[in-house]
Amino acid sequence: MPTAIPTIPLWIDGKPFLGDLKKTSPIHNPATGEVVSELAHASPEEVERIIASSAAAFETWSQVSLAKRSAIMFRFRELLVEHTDELAAIVTREHGKVMSDAKGEIARGLEVVEFACGIPQLLKGEFSDQASTGIDVYSFRQPVGVVAGITPFNFPVMIPLWMSPVAIATGNTFILKPPGRDPGAGMFIAELWKKAGLPDGVFNVVHGDRSVVGRLLTHPDIAAVSFVGSTPTARHIYETSTKHGKRCQALGGAKNQGIVLADADLENAANNLTAAAFGAAGERCMSLPVALVQDEIADELMAMLVEKTRAVRVLPGDHPDSDMGPIISAQAKAGIISLINSAEEQGAEILVDGRGLVVEGFEGGWFLGPTLIDKVNPDMKINQVEVFGPTLEVIRIKDLEEGIALINASPYGNGTAIFTSSGEAARRFQRAVQVGMVGINVPIPVPVAWHSFGGWKDSLIGDTHMYGPEGVKFFTRGKVITQRWPHHAAAADKVSFHFSGDAQK
Ligand code: NAD
Repeated sequence: MPTAIPTIPLWIDGKPFLGDLKKTSPIHNPATGEVVSELAHASPEEVERIIASSAAAFETWSQVSLAKRSAIMFRFRELLVEHTDELAAIVTREHGKVMSDAKGEIARGLEVVEFACGIPQLLKGEFSDQASTGIDVYSFRQPVGVVAGITPFNFPVMIPLWMSPVAIATGNTFILKPPGRDPGAGMFIAELWKKAGLPDGVFNVVHGDRSVVGRLLTHPDIAAVSFVGSTPTARHIYETSTKHGKRCQALGGAKNQGIVLADADLENAANNLTAAAFGAAGERCMSLPVALVQDEIADELMAMLVEKTRAVRVLPGDHPDSDMGPIISAQAKAGIISLINSAEEQGAEILVDGRGLVVEGFEGGWFLGPTLIDKVNPDMKINQVEVFGPTLEVIRIKDLEEGIALINASPYGNGTAIFTSSGEAARRFQRAVQVGMVGINVPIPVPVAWHSFGGWKDSLIGDTHMYGPEGVKFFTRGKVITQRWPHHAAAADKVSFHFSGDAQK
């Protein structure tokens, strides 16, 4: 007997809520192509209800003491650790990435929760004693209100955890709009928040298409929007939400390029490039799909890369031997293949070709093998766009300066890396590249949680980076108090019309 396909509900006031189910969409397992669940989209009335729930919860949550908020963060942290395997299985089922990688993204999200556990320290504020005679000045930060987090398919756990722990710990209420292709992890996170003791309504989840997002961007009760996704959507989200008076941080796409200099440890560089290009099937905003390789070592490095690319084991993500799982959708797979075709037509050499790969027993899955492309020219179509698939393009360069110029010519500026044994070259590189996150012999330089994450140029529309100190700043607004008590002798013995006030001196 066929088993009924479950429906993924909305999450309102600490409970799942199916809604009117007028609109649903299928969720697939990319390893098999099968539908594993249906997603309930929120109706306009349900979106209003969710926002109202979050606005009501803000009134009380924003008054909860730092000690209590911090205690909930600690409990949430413990629950995430306890339920890592279950959560990773949901990610692998809906996204396709290998289990170890799914656990890796949970670990990076966990770091942000740990950062948020220290919220009392982060919100201490500043105090100037006797700023003027009898006057003290002090400042502190308060939550902004209801914040919306709109997140991409490629990190269904980590990115909601880049946003929500910091937003909630600083006293805001949070509405998550998870990706339509793999929303299950967001729902599981909602359950964990509830178990951790978070009051109802502080973390709500809404699903739906652009009309649902549109309401979040324009609703007067939403104070801030935190977004991660592709650049065109990021631009739309930023422009619409700021036009409606909200603060917004919108992280966009990427096309990261890494330089390999002739003095690099080539074995190390080849291992790192292989992992950074093909890990998670290249569906990472910090993957390294372009290697800029110094001419004199290019042939030697290519031989190593061919061998390592061929050794990548492509299997369903829950297979213990899998290095790389399927692509998120049939449509995304077709798009990647068409870009590889264009590179071939424009004269690049396909040294390892993943286009024809079929995984036995999983013929319905959206698998694509790792593809190594040599002699790419910067003007080729494949180099002009974000592929977001398992491709490694190699461009041969004369020297460091040429590599830096190519990196700086990109409209994106998310991540970059250099492989070298020269401290001097690395220093020149780190200072000259117009990129937000730089790795030196580190291929995927995602900052730890107590720094902040953010790219430059088209990779981040807005001002503040995500999580870390910049996350705290984004989710709070400053207040400065100037205090004098009237019994002080200098307080009000005469009327002063000067802006600085003579009596204050
Ligand atoms: P996407 O832009 O298609 O979707 C992101 C979110 O926005 C989803 O929740 C989606 O439902 C919603 N959305 C999509 N189109 C919309 C529209 N027109 N109006 C309103 N909402 C809309 O991105 P994706 O395909 O889910 O994720 C992949 C992209 O995200 C890649 O470009 C990748 O580089 C980028 N990304 C960037 C970072 C970063 O830190 N800069 C991190 C991860 C992913």
